[in-house]
Amino acid sequence: MMEENKDVPDLLDISAAAGPDATAETAAAPDLLNMLPAEVDAALAEHFAGHGERGFRVGQTKAWLYQRDALSFDEMTDLSVDARGRLADAFTLTVPDSARVERSTDGTVKHLWRMSDGELVESVLIPSRDRLTLCMSSQAGCAMACVFCATGWSGYRRQLTTGEIVAQYRGARRWAQEHGLGPITNVVFMGMGEPLMNRSAVMPSLTLLNHAYGLGARRITVSTVGIVPGIDELAGRPEQFRLAVSLHAPNEALRQKLVPVARKYPLPDLMESLDRFEEAGGRRITFEYVMIDGVNDELDHARELAALVGRFQAHVNLIPFNPIPGPDWRPSPHERLRAFADVLEAGGVPATVRSPRGRDIAAACGQLRAEHETTPPKPYVELVRQSRGVAR
Ligand code: SAH
Repeated sequence: MMEENKDVPDLLDISAAAGPDATAETAAAPDLLNMLPAEVDAALAEHFAGHGERGFRVGQTKAWLYQRDALSFDEMTDLSVDARGRLADAFTLTVPDSARVERSTDGTVKHLWRMSDGELVESVLIPSRDRLTLCMSSQAGCAMACVFCATGWSGYRRQLTTGEIVAQYRGARRWAQEHGLGPITNVVFMGMGEPLMNRSAVMPSLTLLNHAYGLGARRITVSTVGIVPGIDELAGRPEQFRLAVSLHAPNEALRQKLVPVARKYPLPDLMESLDRFEEAGGRRITFEYVMIDGVNDELDHARELAALVGRFQAHVNLIPFNPIPGPDWRPSPHERLRAFADVLEAGGVPATVRSPRGRDIAAACGQLRAEHETTPPKPYVELVRQSRGVAR
């Protein structure tokens, strides 16, 4: 069993609930986009029955919610004007504004979404030959304070609700269709935030994406910095959601420097939770490893990494560090990435060298920050900054 490390500040413990029913408005007029599919079924059935409307209206409304990404009840034109008005009286739809859209020269598209309280969140569409991947945010900001990550530097602001998480998917999907990019084939929780520190909203969003929006569980990847209870919760789900673990270091000392939360969930505990995850569903794990020149990219690190993760059906993604304001670091040179990958392969661990996408619009891995037009961060963020003293 893991012992609580008292040195880890409480700021790593964000437990505020943000799942369905967590927002104040839901008491007055429930938000259909912030509810689980079964709850939507029940609420709509009761609503239409109460107004003497036929049962098939439920399916009609759900098609607008889940297939056509309606932004308002007004768009639901196969319902009568009166029926739309009654829906709007009874329910709301969480629909953030699209505050800004930026397109990279390589085809990557970054959306900046403004939530109802003004909070800003980013998502990124990444087209490749046979895929359209959406990289989504799970929190506004992030409290994990990983030293190489721009979101980490900008601090934690608040949890996103289920509706706000799913809204990024709906909005990006609608945009992609309108701009001829086709359907979204994959979703990765690799935007802003630590998804497993917002489980009360992220877990229902997985249910929605899979059961209501029809995205296959194997096409949805939750990326975590290594939150052990969250990995266990994901392992307990019957669906085959995929897991990516942001490792970035092959040993405890280096990992603690780069990823402060490693002090709370040390490598042996993390590795044991990954054993349990594999046992639970035979799902392949991906390890993410940001390659920083002269920091974590020695060939000895590669050998150590192969020994550490060799027991898993794992795959390692080597990601060249994307420079961010702050630390004076450079990405490992390409030859170093290749050599590192070769050592991993020789040690029996499949590895891929990733090429950065969307750098020109600050949409690449670790660059998401949403600093535009935000109010100053909460004082709490200063605590996060201070906690970096350990890491720098
Ligand atoms: N909190 C989750 C989800 C955020 S995505 C997690 O840590 O997994 C985090 C990923 O962004 C990391 O795995 C890493 O691959 C990438 N990343 C963060 N900062 C980066 C940077 N400066 N350069 C390249 N990749 C970075």
